[in-house]
Amino acid sequence: MRRKTILLEQSSIRDILEAQRQFFATGKTKNVDFRIEQLKRLKQAVSDYQEQITAAVKADLNRPKFEAYFELSFLTEISDTIKKLKSWTKPKKVDTPIEQFPAGAKIYPEPLGVVLIISPWNYPFQLAISPLLGAIAAGNCAIVKPSEIATNTSKVVADLIAHTFEPAYVAAITGGVEISQQLLTEKFDYIFFTGGTRVGKIVIEAAAKNMTPVTLELGGKSPCIVESDIQLEYTAKRITWGKFINAGQTCVAPDYLLVNQAVKSDLLEKIKQYIYEFYGENPASSPDYCRIINEQQFSRLTDLLKDGKIVVGGESQPGDRYIAPTVIEGISWDSPIMQEEIFGPILPVLEYSDLSEAIALVNSRPKPLALYFFSINKDNQRRVLRETSSGNVCINDTVVQFAVTSLPFGGVGNSGIGSYHGKASFNTFSHYKSVLNKGLWFDLSIRYAPYKNKVNLIKKVIFK
Ligand code: NAD
Repeated sequence: MRRKTILLEQSSIRDILEAQRQFFATGKTKNVDFRIEQLKRLKQAVSDYQEQITAAVKADLNRPKFEAYFELSFLTEISDTIKKLKSWTKPKKVDTPIEQFPAGAKIYPEPLGVVLIISPWNYPFQLAISPLLGAIAAGNCAIVKPSEIATNTSKVVADLIAHTFEPAYVAAITGGVEISQQLLTEKFDYIFFTGGTRVGKIVIEAAAKNMTPVTLELGGKSPCIVESDIQLEYTAKRITWGKFINAGQTCVAPDYLLVNQAVKSDLLEKIKQYIYEFYGENPASSPDYCRIINEQQFSRLTDLLKDGKIVVGGESQPGDRYIAPTVIEGISWDSPIMQEEIFGPILPVLEYSDLSEAIALVNSRPKPLALYFFSINKDNQRRVLRETSSGNVCINDTVVQFAVTSLPFGGVGNSGIGSYHGKASFNTFSHYKSVLNKGLWFDLSIRYAPYKNKVNLIKKVIFK
């Protein structure tokens, strides 16, 4: 196994890519039993590596063990995919119009070839390996480029892949931006990118040069609208949880609160109470509170603390990159904190008096990845769904929609292109090939020249 890793380090990106192309061309990955076997290997490997994974995310983000296991939550998705893969890979018969008679039409899912997966640092294991499960299920070869910023987890990802798969089938290539840029100059059959919108634009531009299709799983400012008719306890508890797990470094964390002024002070009081309940008087000494990934992010975030009036938190310690769970009010839409995705444990609070105002404010900004709406009123729930656009929505909770694998997960507009999870992952990494198979025992002659007086006939077919 060590030998394999050394070989991989010595090979150039192009060598690996070429080896994968050749392996794909053998047709081995098209065999569904082969794919199931590989998914089982992946599942076993993740289970075998759980100590290394949880230790690595602890080292990278001070992630408590409980939250570290979020990184492995896609294991249930592997089991489900193994169970359903045979049915997903079967060609699906579809209707054919009578004028095509005799004919049969079917849609065949087929693998795309060699795919590239580029992942970010915030859930550094899950976001590298969970797309890979879709790529394997759909019968592709894959190169995974984990984030260089989560140094420890990146090593575990590379090690797990090197010990589980032949590099000619699945390989991890570690390295920084230069490696990512080098990979992007190559021709892949698909690129699956998770990261920020800025880099997403670079990826799609590079992909366009090779006509490579992409999925872009991006971020943005996900609003959390809180109406006056709420169940106060659970609302406060669920917002506090979703905002401060992983110290706010979650792509679907509520970015800011947009709260009806009638409940604002009660809600903020409760959020404050739950911060104390979850992390104690001094969250810096809580075993359950994460740290900021690096100094660059730490300094970006501490700059944002200068805005508005602090309701709770606000403390920071550069030594261990600690920023307290913080809630800030007195923020305007022009404040620096409202100009970029926060991606840290700072929750700005804005208020509104009428739901129409909140909807208009959300709609005046780029389409977010997630939108949260707290209200027990069904009409208002329907209204928000109808009148706003976002990658996904969760009503009366935060973040947990990510874990429902029957819901395709992805953004819209600036928050991304495409989706994955469950069957959506299989779809993403497949090409659905349309096949029409015509019978030869009968031939409808209307389409052939001379057309003479067939115009009425074609009109009948078209306007039927
Ligand atoms: P990032 O865009 O900086 O980096 C992501 C990957 O891109 C890394 O592997 C990095 O090496 C590579 N990269 C960086 N700069 C590059 C360049 N100039 N050219 C080519 N490749 C480059 O993102 P990040 O900081 O690691 O992650 C945070 C962002 O990711 C946030 O915006 C967050 O919302 C988003 N995110 C989205 C999801 C989702 O599922 N939609 C999940 C997690 C994070």
